[in-house]
Amino acid sequence: MSEAELRRALLDTTIAAQREGLNRGASGNLSVRSGNGFLITPSGMAPTEQTADDMVWMDLDGNAKGTRKPSSEWRFHRDLYVARPEFNAVLHAHSTFATTLACLGRDIPPFHYMIAAAGGKTIRCAPYATFGTQELSDHALKAMEGRKACLLANHGLLAAETSLERALALAVEVESLCEQYCRTLQIGTPKLLSDAEMDVVLEKFKSYGQNAQKT
Ligand SMILES: [Zn+2]
Repeated sequence: MSEAELRRALLDTTIAAQREGLNRGASGNLSVRSGNGFLITPSGMAPTEQTADDMVWMDLDGNAKGTRKPSSEWRFHRDLYVARPEFNAVLHAHSTFATTLACLGRDIPPFHYMIAAAGGKTIRCAPYATFGTQELSDHALKAMEGRKACLLANHGLLAAETSLERALALAVEVESLCEQYCRTLQIGTPKLLSDAEMDVVLEKFKSYGQNAQKT
């Protein structure tokens, strides 16, 4: 895709993320790999105010091109593109249920087999650090090791994938899992899947050769 097409796709996905209920107002941010850098949503603008021209191109050293200021969270987007060549899109949201669990500062255990969609047997929660800092990015990258999604303590969720469509689908899946886990905790103690059961699921997901798919 050309840079112009990527700008349009990034805007469309940002609007779609809001429609899915992942973000409200100007919270959350998205990016897509473009050339030897990436395009990221602008800082402090609601999706409905944004145009394709407002998307900010940045190089992998964090230098922005254009008139808009990039999202204040550009560091973890940049660091994921540098450290994880398999990722072409990154989505960050303050969605309600993921954020609720992130405020407990706990990893999400394998209460449901779809936890494997995030790449492992748990969805980790990165320790708290101030938004926009390198410290937060460092925590996030550690929580993303061997994973495609994580929670950020007292903050929200992070999902990264090979395309914008997949990043959005993964974020929606993680938010659904967080809602299901919250509801389960309200009425009892979840019965967790064993390591062996999760190994089977992770293996099955691998053999699809694509994103995790529901069976
Ligand atoms: Zn945030």
